[in-house]
Amino acid sequence: SNSNQMNGLKAAAAFSLSEDIISVEAFGSGHINDTYRVTTRNTIGKTFLLQRINHHIFQNVDGLMLNIKHVTDHLKTKIAHLPIEIQESRVLTIIPTKSNDLYHLDEDGDYWRMFILIDGTKSYDVVETTTQASEGGKAFGQFQLQLADLDATQIVEVLPNFHNIQFRLDNLRKAIAADSQGRVEGVKDILEFIFSREERMRTILDLASKGDLPLRITHNDTKFNNVLLDQNDQAQCVIDLDTVMPGYVAYDFGDAIRTIINPVEEDEKDLSKIVLNIPLYAAYAEGYLNEAKEFLTDIEVHSLLEGVFLLPYMQGVRFLTDYLEGDHYFKTKYDDHNLVRTKTQLKLVEEMERQEEELKTAISSVLQD
Ligand code: ADP
Ligand code: MG
Ligand code: MG
Repeated sequence: SNSNQMNGLKAAAAFSLSEDIISVEAFGSGHINDTYRVTTRNTIGKTFLLQRINHHIFQNVDGLMLNIKHVTDHLKTKIAHLPIEIQESRVLTIIPTKSNDLYHLDEDGDYWRMFILIDGTKSYDVVETTTQASEGGKAFGQFQLQLADLDATQIVEVLPNFHNIQFRLDNLRKAIAADSQGRVEGVKDILEFIFSREERMRTILDLASKGDLPLRITHNDTKFNNVLLDQNDQAQCVIDLDTVMPGYVAYDFGDAIRTIINPVEEDEKDLSKIVLNIPLYAAYAEGYLNEAKEFLTDIEVHSLLEGVFLLPYMQGVRFLTDYLEGDHYFKTKYDDHNLVRTKTQLKLVEEMERQEEELKTAISSVLQD
């Protein structure tokens, strides 16, 4: 809206730019932050990206911005030998405010930050080709690889328990006990499906609690539109670092696969349309593993498939919990919207169980090459 644009223009003026601002326009297709493109007089050939941080979701903005600073500084050390323009096109660059802070807090209590806008790139909401899938895998594999030697204790857990299935199942159980909407009776079969798979879905947490899975720094929002591709569909830069946190590699792998492998929308009602896209899955796995095999332990490799099952399952648990609680968290367009979403996620799990051998083979065949 116009008033948003005005706020954006005002906020942009708080940042340390060497040239006058010419325009601030809405940009991109993210769902969490409000994103704007900032054009300056531009004799230096740079454009900037202004974002209003969603601080309802991210309440610790200091921790969040420090995380991004640590991560981007570290990533830049890996490409320090390259010319500065190339570095700035491969890793996000924070533009500080005029008072040299990582973000600007305005009079309305909104938090703003600025990056260099990486021009000439594309980001896709939906993966269409195996080249794109493989490049996505490569980007997130390289991202984890390059962060494998960053001290994880420096990184704040900005969204505690984000991928913790125990926490998500506890919340589901609370919602069932309360049954505030009287919806539990109607979902008995779905609950049976969920609870009969509980043990398997705890595999990653169990391995971790035995000390068998290293805690890494992971991205935690490995959607495909969080990788910028160049004009030839080659991966160029991983963006959207808000959720970078200590985590297990299988969460990143599983969440990327959750959307890549699903040919339909998250709220498709016709479950017969949910047929796994194995070629895109295999391409992502190949791109990912060719980077990540360098640092993954054997148990981490084994955990990847568990992540593939876990992430749609966990998303289903979250949709169902919201449905039972009266749809407060996810935006809904009709009465059973969250229930429809639950069913698509659990159908994915069911299809994965049916094709588990194919899923396993795609991983092991990359490692045999
Ligand atoms: P959200 O958390 O809302 O998804 P993102 O940081 O992913 O926010 O930004 C939204 C969109 O803006 C991205 O999907 C991408 O298209 C674009 N974008 C974000 N950062 C950059 C950047 N530095 N350069 C170019 N485009 C960007
Ligand atoms: Mg994003
Ligand atoms: Mg985001």
